[in-house]
Amino acid sequence: MNWWHGSDQVRSATAVSAVNLRRVFHFLAPYWPQLVVLLIIVGLSSLIGLVPPFIIRSIIDTAIGQKDHALLGWLTIASVAVAIGFGLLGVLQSYLNTLISERIMYDLKTAIYERLQSLSLGFFTNTRTGEMMSRLTSDVNGVDNVVSGSLVSTTSNLITLLSTLAVMLAISWQLTLLSVVVLPWLILPTLTVGRVRRRLRKQRQQMNASVNSHMQETLGISGFMLIKTFGRERQEITKFREENRDLMRLQIREAVVGRWFFMVMSVITAGGPALLYWYGGGKIISGELTIGTIVAFVALLARLYNPATSLMTLHVEIMTSAAYFERIFQYLDLRPEIANAPDAKPLPTNEGRIEFQHVSLEYVPGRKALDDVSFTVRPGQMVALVGPSGAGKSSLTYLVLRLYDSTSGCVLVDGQDIKTVTLESLRRNIGTVTQETFLFHASVADNLRFAKLEATQAELEEASRAAFIHDFIIQMPKGYDTIVGERGYRLSGGEKQRLTIARVMLKDPRIFLLDEATSSLDTHSERYIQEGLSKLMAGRASIVIAHRLSTVLAADTILYLDQGRIIERGTHHELLAHGGAYARLYEEQLSNPNRPAVASMEE
Ligand code: ATP
Repeated sequence: MNWWHGSDQVRSATAVSAVNLRRVFHFLAPYWPQLVVLLIIVGLSSLIGLVPPFIIRSIIDTAIGQKDHALLGWLTIASVAVAIGFGLLGVLQSYLNTLISERIMYDLKTAIYERLQSLSLGFFTNTRTGEMMSRLTSDVNGVDNVVSGSLVSTTSNLITLLSTLAVMLAISWQLTLLSVVVLPWLILPTLTVGRVRRRLRKQRQQMNASVNSHMQETLGISGFMLIKTFGRERQEITKFREENRDLMRLQIREAVVGRWFFMVMSVITAGGPALLYWYGGGKIISGELTIGTIVAFVALLARLYNPATSLMTLHVEIMTSAAYFERIFQYLDLRPEIANAPDAKPLPTNEGRIEFQHVSLEYVPGRKALDDVSFTVRPGQMVALVGPSGAGKSSLTYLVLRLYDSTSGCVLVDGQDIKTVTLESLRRNIGTVTQETFLFHASVADNLRFAKLEATQAELEEASRAAFIHDFIIQMPKGYDTIVGERGYRLSGGEKQRLTIARVMLKDPRIFLLDEATSSLDTHSERYIQEGLSKLMAGRASIVIAHRLSTVLAADTILYLDQGRIIERGTHHELLAHGGAYARLYEEQLSNPNRPAVASMEE
């Protein structure tokens, strides 16, 4: 089953392809007014930066040279004024910078989260949670640099570089030529280092995601319990150490590569002024140039090299940002396998009739988890599924919910092929209670309202009473406002299940899917749950994965599944009389004292 088109669709890793750039701009586009203002400010700052070298030249050559105290005072004031103007523009620039970056990150995060929410179950059974978290957090944060680093510095550096070059040429073409000779030596190392850094960055991102996943799995409650019960703390710590050590080494390498690079760069940039002083010094001696001109020129030189160097490193920055974008786009490109058909309509009726017509399901091509399954459940009827583990019972219920789609055949609800109705209207009509009950870290009331946002307190209480959990809820510390879930008030398995039943009651679906708990609860709790469930099933079409004899006895039809096929069907008595697989299962259970459910039924 091709559950995830994503991996095939993801473009091969040409980091800054034209398509990727266009997509990046798509995310920048909504903020163009702010971007324009930002770029104007950046341009202004770059031009203002040209002024100080000229003030210095006038101070040295005119004010000091002609001993003009008044001019010296004015020039000093001017240089302070320029500094203040420059500072103010800087504040505005960083405000706009942050604003745009944060908004883009917000958009990206929302887009990824929305995409993930739209995906089918298959994606989540195949992806580690930590990997997803890492894309949502560190990759999104990584693109922060695109606006503040790449976009702003490109503009600023280009304007600075060009304006400085123009001014330098106007002063002296010979000095300009001397200054520019050094530039190629700056470019060469940049290209090599860029490649190495990019490779390391990519490795680090992957390693980071893997370490995150490991932490998530081993520090989550289920994983942690497993480690404790198997006494695997040592091995897990060792694994963690090894993974982290690799990550640490990668990070050190990445940082060191950068350092060597900057060292080479700074040696080369120091060569420029040296050349200028050597050549210009001679010219001053021969009286062709003034001291002020050389000092101003050296000051301008910094405005030539810094942007040139930055433009080179910018190339590296863009590549690394592109790597982040690439990983984000991979997620945005995922297409849900199960989505509304273009012409999907809401389910017109809500009787709750389920029909399977020659349904087969293959998770993996060629391996049938369900094979030619046909049956009908009418409103008010209950179908019980029995059969060995792995027979396809859960898979059958997944198909009703469209968590997966059948490979062939069709599933109908109220006579409509469920692939032609909207997912929302289908799922609104279905309630499920599974063995793995999940509660959010929120109040009992909020957990219940998950089924019906607008439910009143009276409705909550009515549903809870029907599920025999109301009395328990009101004796908790804060009643319906008690926080439950992962770090909240701990509920027992039976209590959680009753709360889940109340939640489904509130939803009031026409179809009910139940995976009965295999573990036996105490008889008191058990009775409440059974009574709650019978109320829930009354008048609804139910499919129950049966683990209890009471259920199969009450069922209108029992389907015995084996290797994805229905090999027997009928009522309990019919199947017993038939003397086949079901009868053998029943005999086995009767003779097995470890099956309290059966034993209690026989009482
Ligand atoms: P149990 O009673 O043990 O829960 P079951 O009857 O509910 O079993 P299913 O969970 O429906 O059985 O599984 C039917 C078959 O499909 C099994 O062989 C299982 O390994 C396979 N299967 C289930 N889910 C997937 C999946 N996401 N990807 C691949 N194979 C799967």
